Amino acid sequence: MNVSPVPGLPEIREGDDLAALIAERADLDSADVVCVASTVVSKAEGRAHDLDAFPAGPRATEIADRLAEITGEEKDPRFAQAVLEESTDLLIEAPFLLTETRFGHVGVNAGIDRSNVPGSDILLLPERPDESARRLHASLGVPVVVTDTCGRPFRHGQRGVAIGRAGLPASHDWRGEHDRDGRELGVTVESIVDELAAAANLVLGEGGGGEPVAVVNGFELDGFEGSDELFRDVETDFVRQALREWSYARD
Ligand code: GDP
Ligand code: MN
Ligand code: MN
Repeated sequence: MNVSPVPGLPEIREGDDLAALIAERADLDSADVVCVASTVVSKAEGRAHDLDAFPAGPRATEIADRLAEITGEEKDPRFAQAVLEESTDLLIEAPFLLTETRFGHVGVNAGIDRSNVPGSDILLLPERPDESARRLHASLGVPVVVTDTCGRPFRHGQRGVAIGRAGLPASHDWRGEHDRDGRELGVTVESIVDELAAAANLVLGEGGGGEPVAVVNGFELDGFEGSDELFRDVETDFVRQALREWSYARD
């Protein structure tokens, strides 16, 4: 398997035809998967905004004041307002904001970025990354994964995850296959889109590298049972349920 960045992409602006810009620079073949950083999908879709577009209501002001008090840093209530407007559920409100976005992804600050957004204050995630991926997939003719860099519980460090995909299953369902002892696998569902996103993110980097798209060549997408769910239901997500009982307390 080979993972390589697509060279020479410009700064992406609202209305840009991202698929055309990629197709002009990448000689895609049928064994490719295209991984695109959500940052450029968002820019093309006009998701960059100034904070003035999010006048803070009382809830956002309350959240920002508490975060400022806890962290000792200035917190703009308009940023908290943007996070609330992007979210359907607030899982953690201190010492940072963790929410569920409208499309089902759980992320810090609803995945809103302040880096790599020249000319605007903030960049929201794509409104429906699966649909963004479907449009790119329809134009490019190969599977597409839309990625974002996210933190994770239990472990230090951020890494790439898939927030949308088209043309490939979310997971390789190993259940019913056998291990080397002949024992039937009962639970393993391998999130191949997250693994592809993480591999792609390694070559994209996080800074000013200017490489928002990677092509994965030679990942075998045939010969296994796929499963399509990316986000857990709250009903079967016991870690998330436990958060309902938890609240941040300073000693
Ligand atoms: P995220 O992981 O989706 O939040 O995206 P990042 O901000 O980490 O950016 C991923 C990569 O894309 C980095 O190499 C950035 O320098 C690059 N990048 C971000 N925006 C643009 C853009 O508009 N044009 C180009 N050419 N590269 C960009
Ligand atoms: Mn991001
Ligand atoms: Mn990133």
